[in-house]
Amino acid sequence: MTSSTTVMKFGGSSVADIARIKRVAEHVRAKRDAGQRVCVVVSAMGKTTDALIAQAKEIAKEPARRELDMLLTIGERASAALLTMALVDAGVDAISFTGSQAGIITNATHAGARILEVRPYRVQDELERGRVVVIAGFQGVSYAKEITTLGRGGSDTTAVALAAALDATCEIYSDVDGVWTSDPRVVPSTRKIEELTYEEMQELAEAGAKVLNAQAVQFAKAKGIALFALQTPHFGARAGGGGGETGTVVRKDAPPP
Ligand code: ADP
Ligand code: ASP
Ligand code: MG
Repeated sequence: MTSSTTVMKFGGSSVADIARIKRVAEHVRAKRDAGQRVCVVVSAMGKTTDALIAQAKEIAKEPARRELDMLLTIGERASAALLTMALVDAGVDAISFTGSQAGIITNATHAGARILEVRPYRVQDELERGRVVVIAGFQGVSYAKEITTLGRGGSDTTAVALAAALDATCEIYSDVDGVWTSDPRVVPSTRKIEELTYEEMQELAEAGAKVLNAQAVQFAKAKGIALFALQTPHFGARAGGGGGETGTVVRKDAPPP
């Protein structure tokens, strides 16, 4: 029997420094040890993307979008390489891929590309070998072999697209425990929502709830993928006001019993 596959996506705050990357590696290892095939998608560390954009803007008022994509993709690539090193150091066989190596094919719109298809052959081969595969989020490659990025918060979309291509469960980890009625970092009395439809989540995302990227939710809806918004364990009870472990699931309306 083949084991099932989970895509685990970790955002910038979850991999903000080396200590956090090592803790994410432990969390990934636990999932692998529980018998899952694991594909990990990572964002750039902390505020790296903002820092890279600021550097580009110091050089040119309007940097060429193609070159911006060349620059920004290194943030996610660094996280993927470092997390892979942490996994190997912890005794977990792992390999990192860029979006292009993972087969994320996009249109040619630099800085706001749309995923057209996923050709996950290398990812599947490595999973088959028993390796954890770590993929740099937020990026892909066009048919003309140009490197592209998916727009801010785009690593969520990478995770959803891969989950659809691998027939995997999609878990999006961040600093908060799931989706709340409003931003739990701003409104102290907010309440966690256990389950949402795609449409409800899209409304929240478009109103600014960046915990799940709006384009990623749209993609999940189109592919019928359930999304689990969960808290990265190292944030514990500090964030989100409740510190629960159940998160939020976003999926099609459950049929009536
Ligand atoms: P990541 O960097 O892991 O992708 P994001 O910063 O994109 O994470 O999303 C998580 C943040 O979303 C939280 O820190 C929280 O402040 C914010 N947020 C805004 N609205 C909501 C909401 N309704 N529910 C949960 N989090 C929200
Ligand atoms: N690093 C990118 C950003 O800051 C993508 C992501 O985090 O999903 O927008
Ligand atoms: Mg995000």
